[in-house]
Amino acid sequence: MESPMNTEEQQSLNDEDEVIMEMLQEIELAVNEKSINVAQKEEERKSEEAMKSAETKAEQENILKQITELIGERDSLSAILKLQTEEFEQKVTKLDKMRQELLENLKSQEEQHMQQVEQIKLKFQSDLEAKDQLFLELEQRLERQQEHYELDVSCSICLDRWNSTSEHRPVSLRCGHLFGDHCIRSYLQRAYECPQCRGPAQLADLRQIFGRPA
Ligand SMILES: [Zn+2]
Ligand SMILES: [Zn+2]
Repeated sequence: MESPMNTEEQQSLNDEDEVIMEMLQEIELAVNEKSINVAQKEEERKSEEAMKSAETKAEQENILKQITELIGERDSLSAILKLQTEEFEQKVTKLDKMRQELLENLKSQEEQHMQQVEQIKLKFQSDLEAKDQLFLELEQRLERQQEHYELDVSCSICLDRWNSTSEHRPVSLRCGHLFGDHCIRSYLQRAYECPQCRGPAQLADLRQIFGRPA
């Protein structure tokens, strides 16, 4: 048979209960604190996440903005490139046209030059022929003049030239005709006239001519 608990024992049990209760309360407090901590941590994590997400979003937006700007730059650069290419092509076309014109000019100048050369050659030839002709005429004239000169300085009786010192020096009659002295003296012994113009003439008319060519 078990004996009922005495008061002491009962008191001791009550004390133990109290201690246990206190411990339980402490545990509960601790658990509560932990929960609060966890909740705070969760809150912090969430806010951090939110911040990070906002940062990521801002970064993405930034990147998108940069991409848009780059596309814009690329578009304007290709527009400039297109313009420059067109200008370059126009310049090339213009230069090509100029080159063509210059070549044509050169060709026509060369043709003109050749024609001029040909004309000059022809003119030179005809000039040369005219000069030859002139030379021939001058030669003939000279020959005729020489003949006249021969007649001028020759006695028409013997056809020899006068000589200023010999018996055949030039003398004139009253009519002005010249003869060799010796020849006209012989002639005037047979006739009283000029052998050339038949004008009256006699020995007394004879005049010596000085300064005539020998
Ligand atoms: Zn004579
Ligand atoms: Zn005479």
